[in-house]
Amino acid sequence: MAEKLALVGIGKIARDQHIPAISANPDWALEATVSRHASVDGIPSYTELQSLLDERPDISTISLAIPPQPRFAYAEAALKAGRNVMLEKPPGQSLAECFALKSLAEEMGVTIFATWHSRFADCVPDLKSWLAARELKRLRIIWKEDVQHWHPGQEWIWEPGGMGVFDPGINALSIMTEILPHAVHVRDATLEFPDNRATPISAELRFTDPEGADVSAVFDWRQQGPQTWDIEIETTNANARLSLGGSKLEIDGELIREGSDNEYSNLYARMSELVRLRTSDMDLSPFIHVCDAFALGRRVVTSPFHY
Ligand code: NAP
Repeated sequence: MAEKLALVGIGKIARDQHIPAISANPDWALEATVSRHASVDGIPSYTELQSLLDERPDISTISLAIPPQPRFAYAEAALKAGRNVMLEKPPGQSLAECFALKSLAEEMGVTIFATWHSRFADCVPDLKSWLAARELKRLRIIWKEDVQHWHPGQEWIWEPGGMGVFDPGINALSIMTEILPHAVHVRDATLEFPDNRATPISAELRFTDPEGADVSAVFDWRQQGPQTWDIEIETTNANARLSLGGSKLEIDGELIREGSDNEYSNLYARMSELVRLRTSDMDLSPFIHVCDAFALGRRVVTSPFHY
């Protein structure tokens, strides 16, 4: 029988990805939504999470598709009510919040899943296996997009906790932390902040790799024309390029695979598995790199940003 689920935050990603992925998966039944201003045709809607938790004890799982700043309070309430919780990325606005949620889920004996949708892109497992058999020399993340196009009017990304360009950048870091056979850590960073904003519009990160590889990332929200979501990899005997955010893989210039967009259907399949196994998946390694970049980054002030 399908597991009953409520979706919280009926905004861009809920409509673009969550609702289609839930609807297509027979393991899940979308029983209710929680959103202060929006609803979904034919689905009972609530404006407050607590009312839903009180009135619908039959709904076992709460999926949170809201921005990171309010997420902790929603997740905490759902966990305390004994529900499984699925967190959009990034899993919170601070690491301490995430550790607290992980402990609370353990205490309550329920599942918590910190989702990293880009890890579930089609070519990420192929690249991980390819890299496991090779010696890394260089890894370069180039994640450049037009914020006006992808985040129109989203003020929360420019507020503390919204992470600015790390909102998409953390997707690249989630792939990097998945495919590298060992951990790296941020050595130094430069973050450019628009004069009128609290979060960065661009970032350059350099990592220390224990095996000596040259590992770096550039994130920029001012990209015009073609958009770039690439990871370039050089090894001692071959080179790879993962592009289109993880759905296209080339090795030494030859196309290996160009998949379709299955990230969110894969996420809901994984959540179903975690609930069935009564376990959790709360890997925070991509978020640790972002927090370290904020801690170590040199701040440069740049032109104001206006939508
Ligand atoms: P969004 O459309 O700006 O916000 C989603 C919904 O959250 C809003 O419609 C709003 O619904 C609710 N919300 C906003 N602020 C809130 C607050 N302070 N308290 C409670 N609810 C609030 O954002 P989004 O683009 O869907 O992103 C949501 C999350 O998904 C983010 O963490 C983002 O990183 C992640 N994500 C986004 C994308 C993308 O392409 N946009 C892709 C992957 C992941 P109500 O006003 O109706 O309550």
